[in-house]
Amino acid sequence: MAKLSVDQIDLSGRRVFLRVDFNVPLEDGRITDDTRITAVLPTLQHCLKVGASLVLASHLGRPKGKPDPRYSLGPAAARLEEILGQPVPLAPDCVGAEIEERAKALQPGQLLMLENLRFHAQEEANDEGFARQLAALADVYVNDAFAAAHRAHASIEAITRYLRPAAAGLLMARELAALGRILAGAERPVWAILGGAKVSDKLALVESLLARVDGLLIGGGMAFTFLASLGHGIGRSLAEPDRIDVARAALERARSRGVPLRLPVDVVVAAGVDDLTGLRTVTIREVPADLMGLDIGPATVSQFSASLKGAKTVVWNGPMGVFEKEAFAAGTLGVARAVSECGAFSVVGGGDTIAAIHRVGVASRIGYISTAGGAFLEFLEGRELPGMAALDDA
Ligand code: AMP
Repeated sequence: MAKLSVDQIDLSGRRVFLRVDFNVPLEDGRITDDTRITAVLPTLQHCLKVGASLVLASHLGRPKGKPDPRYSLGPAAARLEEILGQPVPLAPDCVGAEIEERAKALQPGQLLMLENLRFHAQEEANDEGFARQLAALADVYVNDAFAAAHRAHASIEAITRYLRPAAAGLLMARELAALGRILAGAERPVWAILGGAKVSDKLALVESLLARVDGLLIGGGMAFTFLASLGHGIGRSLAEPDRIDVARAALERARSRGVPLRLPVDVVVAAGVDDLTGLRTVTIREVPADLMGLDIGPATVSQFSASLKGAKTVVWNGPMGVFEKEAFAAGTLGVARAVSECGAFSVVGGGDTIAAIHRVGVASRIGYISTAGGAFLEFLEGRELPGMAALDDA
């Protein structure tokens, strides 16, 4: 890696702004998977050992630019406190005079967790003034939030204009090395599996993956925009009508390139995520107009599993359904099992996908687990990540 690494700078007695990604899955305020917290422990422990103090900053969820207790970093700070066995106080905000004072009072070996960066709209706007306020909290910048490195946000990009040196954390370095190796030397055939809800985020990925993979499986909410583009009735399923043309074009491109692109053949439908009225499995030709498709069905799991049988490399990001709910979890868990059993070198990324792998208990059979979702996919696409580009060269 050509970027400055945290272990190459003298941190003794210095205050480090450590951008982490504690965007952990939460259920009723409880962390259901703490992989993203444990993943930054090497960097945390290194900084504390060499006598730095730490200002930890992260986003969590999508609080829409204003404080929302549902997205507080309180649970993450509490979990880190348990793991480290030392206090990890949570500041009430991430910028402002009071926060600056608390940061300045930190002694070597002490930590302060800032409240959710996205409680301020300026974070996602990559706002200069906000970045300068964040920069005022420390003497050194370290980014170990590989999972957020594809976002040009204030705590990732703009801040490096005011706070230097700007170094990569140890997780960031490890992820880049591992994914770089995969990018360079993936054994073919390569199959990719995409799921999750954000269709608009992932359409561009579908396009670019089509040039790099030998087959593509699409499940989750994003599948419905593709199914709609083929003329299927999708009832009240998640879809982005203004993306239907792009989805159709991607399907045509897959066909002309000879890359198999498989969509669900059956789905589990219900009135809603929390309303199981009408819960049943139907073929994609029979999705009732008043119901939503919330998981892939068993026939799809079988077909997807069969597709993966010949793969030598499998890349997976995104759940196949609303797997947080028991009624809609079988598809994602089935695919997790198939990925672990297909014999290919598997590379899995994204919080939800990692959670599914752990639920099935097959983490040891996955080739590489990345903490990142979007950044992981953009990196595999070959794009330069803003969070990487912003760091000092080694
Ligand atoms: P993403 O952040 O785009 O990877 O989306 C992850 C989310 O997609 C998870 O919280 C899932 O509950 C959700 N999801 C997956 N499949 C569906 C579906 N068929 N309908 C609605 N949401 C879904």
